[in-house]
This record gives sequence, structure tokens and C-alpha cells, in this order.
Amino acid sequence: GKIVIAIDGYSGCGKSSTAKAVAKDLGFTYIDSGAMYRAATVHFLNHYLSPANPHDVEKGLKSLEVSFHLNPETNRQETYLGGLNVEDEIRTMRVSEKVSEIATIKEIRKELVAQQQRLGKKKGVVMDGRDIGSVVFPDAELKVFMTADLETRAIRRQQELLEKGELVELEVIKTNLAERDRIDSSRVESPLKKVADAVEIDTSNLTFEGQVATIVQLARE
Ligand code: C5P
Repeated sequence: GKIVIAIDGYSGCGKSSTAKAVAKDLGFTYIDSGAMYRAATVHFLNHYLSPANPHDVEKGLKSLEVSFHLNPETNRQETYLGGLNVEDEIRTMRVSEKVSEIATIKEIRKELVAQQQRLGKKKGVVMDGRDIGSVVFPDAELKVFMTADLETRAIRRQQELLEKGELVELEVIKTNLAERDRIDSSRVESPLKKVADAVEIDTSNLTFEGQVATIVQLARE
């Protein structure tokens, strides 16, 4: 059986929800690396720190404390910044519009990658992100690269935001997903790309259950 499953891909392909369900099926731990970049973004925004200013980056990293804690009521892992529960805030458009810029900064990536590697020491981990198969766990036993067409991704994301009470126009979401993909794919530090040994799964025409089952099957091979 596989011990580390890396799920990478474009923004809004359903990586997190898929990875979470795969982890549940296999009895593995799910770790959302994107939530860590998002929490770092909240930290920089809250403290008016600019990722373009090296002094601000140094200051921001010194006080950055991201962690995950189980909410016993919902039985879900929630993201914390120090003692503050930021699970809802990290999913807002305000954060989505800033996070890819934060994620271009070498020092920030270095710190978060080190934390992700520590969290991945547990036996049985599913981690999703952009550089999991390429940088965080290059030796992962299973690497998946998820894609879906932009329209499909935007509609799904709009629905998710709506369920959280944020009404956003489809065009605004499309622009954000495309812009994040552009920044994530063209950055110098660990750009998003499919590694040679990753299995590509286009989820445009797959049901949620279908994509979960496909990955669980690959994990059991
Ligand atoms: O996965 P999610 O969409 O929540 O990630 C938000 C952003 O964080 C991505 O668009 C990307 O800029 C950054 N990210 C990254 N590397 C990861 C995970 C996320 O650069 N491993």
C-alpha cells in the first residue's frame, strides 16, 4: 500500500475535497497545504506586511504560527493562526486574491515546505497543493495531477462560496482562478507543473465519487 499521496493541480479542481475523501476512505491523515499559504496571507494582511518587502517577510515569518486542530463538533480539521481560528476567513475572495503573490516568496515557501514535511512524517498522508509531488514529497508513492476546464471549476467554486454565504460573480471567480494558475505556473520558486511520474486526472466529466474512487483504486494497487 501507499503511504504518501501527493495531489497537485490547478486552482479549483476540487483537490481539497477529493483529497479529504480519499484520506477518509484509506484511514489516512489529510493535510491541506494551500490552507497554510492562505493562513500566511491572512497573517500578512492583518499585520499590514508586504511580501515585496524583505524586512516585512522576515518579520512576518518570525511571528507566523499555522496549525490544524480537530473541531470535535464537526469532526473536521480547522486552520489556526496562533490561537485564532481562520478556517472561514482563509476561503474568502480577499485571501484568494492575495495568496498567489504571497506564495511566490522563496522564504515563505521554505518555511511552509519544512512544516509540511514535518506533518508528513505520520504514516499515511494525503496532501494537496501545487508542489507536493515535485518539492515537498518527491518520493511520494502516488502522485496525482488534477485538471478541469475553467468554466467547470468556476461554477463549482461559486457554489462553495455561496454555501459559505459569499455571493461572487462567475467572471470574478474565473479571473481569480486563471490569475492564480498564471502566477503559480510562472513563478521562479517551485512552479506548478505536472511531474513526469504523476497520474493526470481530468475531473471535468467525472462525478465527485468517481474521482475519489479513481484515486483510492490507484492507492490500493
Ligand atoms: O490549494 P489552494 O487553492 O487553497 O491554494 C491557494 C494558493 O496557495 C494557490 O493558488 C497557490 O498560490 C498557493 N499554494 C502553493 N503551493 C502549495 C499550495 C498552495 O503555492 N503547495
